[in-house]
Amino acid sequence: MELIWQDFLKIAEAELGIRAVETWIKAVSFYRYDESMQKVYLKAPNVFVKDWVKTHYNNLFELHLKRLLRIDSIAIHFFVGDETAESVVVSTAVAEVVKAPIAPVITRKKARSTQYAPAKKIDSNQMINRLNSLYTFDSFVVGQNNSFASAACRAVVDKLGKLYNPLLLYGGSGLGKTHLLHSIGNDVLSKDPNAVVLYQTTDRFINEFINAIRFNQMPIFNAKYKQIDVLLIDDIQFMANKEQTQEAFFHIFNTLYDSNKQIVFSSDVLPRDLGGLADRLKSRLEWGLVADLQVPRLETKIAILKRKAFAQNEILSDEAANLIARRAISNVRELEGSLIRVLAFASLTNQVVSVDLIGKVLGQEQKSHSVIIEFDAITKVVQKHYFYGLTELRSKNRTKNISLARQVTMYLMKQVTNKSLREIGEFLNRKDHTTIAHAIQRIDDLRKIDNDLDERLLNLQRELGSRNGF
Ligand code: ADP
Ligand code: MG
Repeated sequence: MELIWQDFLKIAEAELGIRAVETWIKAVSFYRYDESMQKVYLKAPNVFVKDWVKTHYNNLFELHLKRLLRIDSIAIHFFVGDETAESVVVSTAVAEVVKAPIAPVITRKKARSTQYAPAKKIDSNQMINRLNSLYTFDSFVVGQNNSFASAACRAVVDKLGKLYNPLLLYGGSGLGKTHLLHSIGNDVLSKDPNAVVLYQTTDRFINEFINAIRFNQMPIFNAKYKQIDVLLIDDIQFMANKEQTQEAFFHIFNTLYDSNKQIVFSSDVLPRDLGGLADRLKSRLEWGLVADLQVPRLETKIAILKRKAFAQNEILSDEAANLIARRAISNVRELEGSLIRVLAFASLTNQVVSVDLIGKVLGQEQKSHSVIIEFDAITKVVQKHYFYGLTELRSKNRTKNISLARQVTMYLMKQVTNKSLREIGEFLNRKDHTTIAHAIQRIDDLRKIDNDLDERLLNLQRELGSRNGF
């Protein structure tokens, strides 16, 4: 069921976009599937989220879970972690408001996601730059975690094609890679409105390429890319295993590079760890500068929250920002999700954002802070026994010993923290949760026949303390 839930999240993301999924869908968690009743129980952190998700997304849940579970009828039951009399009262109040056509915060949000900058320059090929004008250097909060990357991006704009070419932004999901790519594009255009800038996701590049082949339009495709001054390619990791696309891209890269045109990439994996990418392309990605983005610290999170609230004409007190930042979380996208939920609730129920209200909305969800500490503790203990640290564990290196250490880590994380495969995957830089499921299964099997391993695991568990009854 965990796997089905993960599949569902992927489909939801394709349909609703990552923001809605981070903000609302992931606010509920899968609790139980009752096969005989064909009933799925979904747990919400509070009544507000429950009502919201039920009102807006029930059909989506029904449609896709039914299909994924291969059943022909389904009942979705939403419930709140621990319902209290108080929350029931809130429920009715919110249910009333939720019926209102469109909530104000959401209007703003919708407006925001469709507010793309108008194409500043439309050339003969009708190329549009696809830049989102809201993602700028000005709206990007610089902290210890991203100061190197953001300085590199600014330097790139100052010396286009000359200083760091290509620039590769590297870091986990939701840490600001896309934001910075757009910032470069917007800044370039504000300085030179005639520059030809293109922001392109790797997915779209692949589709464009496939269509060009299908409809015999390769010359147009090539011509379009060859006249670009600044090419911003997002999530290059998705080019893995797409040999033909890589080939086409390789030539585009060379042409642009040879004529000193600026290229910037983002990736959530280091190219050298990226399976399925041709060596010559890998090496080119690292020709220039690689700048990484890390998880922000508390003070940066607070600054980001305040900035985002301000952009929505809300003032967030220090105390409130601190509280939200502490509950969240491992990346900025989740942080924004929490803020949106808090502001939506405040606006729908006509209340000010108070400590009490934040507690109500964010409820007992988001224990991620402690999870990260627990994950950290586990990797440290594993390192003591297996000598490999987080870098190796997160890498794509499949040397036997590293693989074993990594599988043991996944196994312990599941056992000790009981977190989802997705969270474990995110922490260990693994996109595909089936890898983690397999690893856990494998260690479970091995343990039964390998006494040494079994003993070592017992020691590890003992060292991790008395959590969960060990
Ligand atoms: P990534 O591409 O690395 O997955 P995004 O660039 O999409 O992440 O960032 C996720 C969200 O967080 C975006 O809405 C972005 O504006 C916001 N964000 C990330 N880092 C910052 C920051 N330092 N300051 C302001 N907003 C940020
Ligand atoms: Mg991105």
